[in-house]
Amino acid sequence: MVYKSIGRYLSQRIARCLLCGDTCGHDSGLCQPCQRELPQLGDACQRCALPLPPAAHTCPGCLQHPPAFASARAAWHYAFPVGQLIQRFKYRGDLAAGFSLARLAAPRLLPPDDAPDLLLPLPLHWRRYWQRGFNQAQVIAAELSRQWHIPLAPRLLRKTSAGHRQQQLNRAQRLRNLEHSFTVRGPVAGMHIGLVDDVITTGATLEAASRALLAAGAARISAYALARTP
Ligand SMILES: [Zn+2]
Ligand SMILES: [Zn+2]
Repeated sequence: MVYKSIGRYLSQRIARCLLCGDTCGHDSGLCQPCQRELPQLGDACQRCALPLPPAAHTCPGCLQHPPAFASARAAWHYAFPVGQLIQRFKYRGDLAAGFSLARLAAPRLLPPDDAPDLLLPLPLHWRRYWQRGFNQAQVIAAELSRQWHIPLAPRLLRKTSAGHRQQQLNRAQRLRNLEHSFTVRGPVAGMHIGLVDDVITTGATLEAASRALLAAGAARISAYALARTP
């Protein structure tokens, strides 16, 4: 698979830290001091990964309107330097930045004894895919699949409508915009599905994809992302 071979190629190439340029181990892409600087997501809502004060399990939003997905986990806050690395990855095609973050995030995202049966990257509409040349969620999901030994089904979920620009919309508007925009094109009945994305912002995209999967018979959805916005 092309994403796997890119990963192998990059892991042989990465010898300098992506942030400070110092030499570092072959497989991480970031030197130890820079890894320690990453803004780890500590206490967070179990349902949507929103940062929360210690000992709170569920955010008020999820208590009021429980999302269709059962849980969401993110490795870091969407803050410096993770935000910058994700931007390099997504908008400037710096695949090494994406692989490096996925590689470091994978061991921290999988809760013990709760592995999904199948991993699905959140798909891009073909037009967006064509503009960008790759799906950032698929790059991340390929690395999670490799480390977790869980099969990846990159084409099972399709984004069938491009939707309007989402960035200026609030969560309810995003959800309306995304309604019926995902199609499930394979068997998911009774399965625990792991949905993978780069950043969880409002959770509206995850919500729409989860609803489509549950409607197709999936038993449960867990979401995994590199970072969470506040
Ligand atoms: Zn460094
Ligand atoms: Zn929540």
